[in-house]
Amino acid sequence: MAYKLEFQLILNGLSGTEKAKPKTKTMLQKTLTITGLFLVAAAQLSQAQELNKKHLPIIDVHVHAMKMNPNFAGDMCPWFLSNMPGADPNDKAPAFFNTDCATPLKAAKNDQEFQDSLISTMNRLNMTIVASGDPTIIRNWQKAAAPGRVIPSLSLSNSKDMTVVAFTDSLSAGFYKVMGEVAPQYQGMSPSDPSLDSYFAAAEKLNIPVGIHMGTGGNGSINITNPKYRASLGNPFLLEDLLARHPKLKVWVMHAGYPMIDEMIALMGANAYVYVDIAGMIWSYPLAEVNDYIKRLVQAGFGKRILYGTDHMIWPKLIETSIGVIENANYLSFDQKRDILFNNAVRFFRLDESKYK
Ligand SMILES: [Zn+2]
Repeated sequence: MAYKLEFQLILNGLSGTEKAKPKTKTMLQKTLTITGLFLVAAAQLSQAQELNKKHLPIIDVHVHAMKMNPNFAGDMCPWFLSNMPGADPNDKAPAFFNTDCATPLKAAKNDQEFQDSLISTMNRLNMTIVASGDPTIIRNWQKAAAPGRVIPSLSLSNSKDMTVVAFTDSLSAGFYKVMGEVAPQYQGMSPSDPSLDSYFAAAEKLNIPVGIHMGTGGNGSINITNPKYRASLGNPFLLEDLLARHPKLKVWVMHAGYPMIDEMIALMGANAYVYVDIAGMIWSYPLAEVNDYIKRLVQAGFGKRILYGTDHMIWPKLIETSIGVIENANYLSFDQKRDILFNNAVRFFRLDESKYK
């Protein structure tokens, strides 16, 4: 508004008649000087206000803390699954990611670069993250971030990873507040597999929420990276036995069971405490498909049970790319966006909201 007013003043000065030119010129010069000073002051004030203004809080429930690996360090186009290649088993396997777009996301070159960018984005966007993976990296992030803004999560995919006793001890020690990512699908196992049951029982007893990978996997996961992976084991219905055995267990379905929307909606309808996150799918599958999927969940009445997540790994700008999908979702109201980006996670993880604002 201030700028508009000042430009109007300049235009008024310029609109003087030819006859009044000498006088108008002096007045115009004065006006321009005052206007210039005013504009500088207004710009400085708005910059100061911008710096003081806190971004509305965001919680990313799905971040992977990992050491940078030169074998997994390529750039990546968001929504890279928009054009899955027609491949042949006798040819070279298709590339998992592609870089054929105007602005591929750059992979971080080392751990420090990734950490610096993560912490600066978290500070700028007033973010909290739930992070699983390498405990040394998680501790480094905790030291660099504002207190309480990195919530450690203990991942487990099969009973060979850790004994039940060691797992229970780890959860009881207090460092880990969450269990996940649990990804039995990549092991060719159902989440209700009896071999995982004692681990879930420990989480239930200790009041620890659990995130389980269901669905997604990219294009050709079985051929390219994970021969044991089975699409059918991402079916949300496979959670029902587990949920029935552990009625107090708080479970969120990572990747929202994509693409099994009907099963996901049916499961959430029958099980009142199940939430989903939209991590991974939000930046990898075709954007229209992602929006349709989120819209369908909200339309089905589950807007209060969708958690925002990225599946953050190696590309620093992935956070902004993913948040942009929610920010620009014209099918969501302001309140629905705030639920997804923050309120639902506060409720699900039983957080003290005042500490994260
Ligand atoms: Zn996952």
